[in-house]
Amino acid sequence: MDTKQLDNQYIMHTYGRYDVALKSGKGCRAVGEDGKTYLDVSSGIGVNSLGYCDEGWVNAVTAQAGEIQHMSNYFYSPQASKLAQTLCEKTHFTKVCFGNSGAEANECAIKVARKYSFDKYGEGRNEIITLKNSFHGRTVTTLSATGQDNFHTFFYPFTEGFKYADADFDSVNALVDDKTCGVLLECVQGEGGVNILDKDFVQSVAKLCEEKDLVLIVDEVQTGVGRTGKLFCYENFDIQPDLITCAKGLGGGLPIGACLCSKKLEDVMQPSTHGSTFAANPVVCAGANYVLSVVGDEKFLDEVNKKGDFLRNQLLKIKGIKSVRNLGLMVGIELEKGDAHEIAVKCVENGLLIITAKSLLRMLPPLNISYSELEEAVEILDKTLQEANL
Ligand SMILES: *Cc1c(COP(=O)(O)O)cnc(C)c1O
Repeated sequence: MDTKQLDNQYIMHTYGRYDVALKSGKGCRAVGEDGKTYLDVSSGIGVNSLGYCDEGWVNAVTAQAGEIQHMSNYFYSPQASKLAQTLCEKTHFTKVCFGNSGAEANECAIKVARKYSFDKYGEGRNEIITLKNSFHGRTVTTLSATGQDNFHTFFYPFTEGFKYADADFDSVNALVDDKTCGVLLECVQGEGGVNILDKDFVQSVAKLCEEKDLVLIVDEVQTGVGRTGKLFCYENFDIQPDLITCAKGLGGGLPIGACLCSKKLEDVMQPSTHGSTFAANPVVCAGANYVLSVVGDEKFLDEVNKKGDFLRNQLLKIKGIKSVRNLGLMVGIELEKGDAHEIAVKCVENGLLIITAKSLLRMLPPLNISYSELEEAVEILDKTLQEANL
């Protein structure tokens, strides 16, 4: 049986897949089992932040795999300690808790927010306000936090304690009462359609949180680690959240999640309040340390912004594209007509790996993509849209 048949027979059908099996990659290019080369502007949903098999990253990961591949969290880990140090030194946060995915990082943040409130105010003050159209993960609790009804259909009962507001201040403010302990939001809603939140709105929510001692959690699982042209997206909004979560781009292709907390929260979690067998794996942390050594540089981040502007300007010249919204290299493309998913399928046939977000095409290219590769991606999309003749 070939890969596609095996997949259909043996893997639960939880994904709609493109008709390609990928077997290798280098930089922004992936090679399919069919021998065809594809230009990838999706990075495995923003995970391969330095593209496929970046040389420095491969060296860091393979060296660590040959040194020590795992130890339990009962022991100190040089790679994990260094990673936590870098994350804190490059931000205002003071402590980190590691996990293995975005959903787990959000679970941790939710627990920290609730325990902070419990310790200070006692029982019953435990509700978290999230936004409609948000996405926070696939566990029962993070699905509950996700403000989209269609994610809630089959899996009741959910974790209690989430309320969903519109992305406007009055809507958030109206939901705050003596049971509220926090607000959780993405500064740019990724899965929800690359919706960039209004800066005044985000700032007024941050102010409200400060006044009412609510824990402000920013979900940076997709926006973090350079994606939006800052190390973390909240920096674009001039706020200082109490907690952030990151995951996708942090490991450069290996699974990791991290929850970062500010000084006020650094002692909330104590032994046995949280943990994970696989968290802070040294091989993964070695990859993440390498990613941060590249992406944590101001000049590198400036380039991410310039490439984002360049890409947007090129895309806006294409017939059939109605609008483009981006922050750095997190890019949503609104089409005049036609179904974004069908266009994405045709792009893949034409050699461009691209994804969608709601009714938009979405690009999350490797952060080190070159200008000529961006031009090539734009050309393939242009060709595909003109062929579709919508
Ligand atoms: C992808 C994503 C998650 C979930 O991350 P997983 O690693 O799939 O658990 C959570 N929040 C946001 C904003 C995401 O984009």
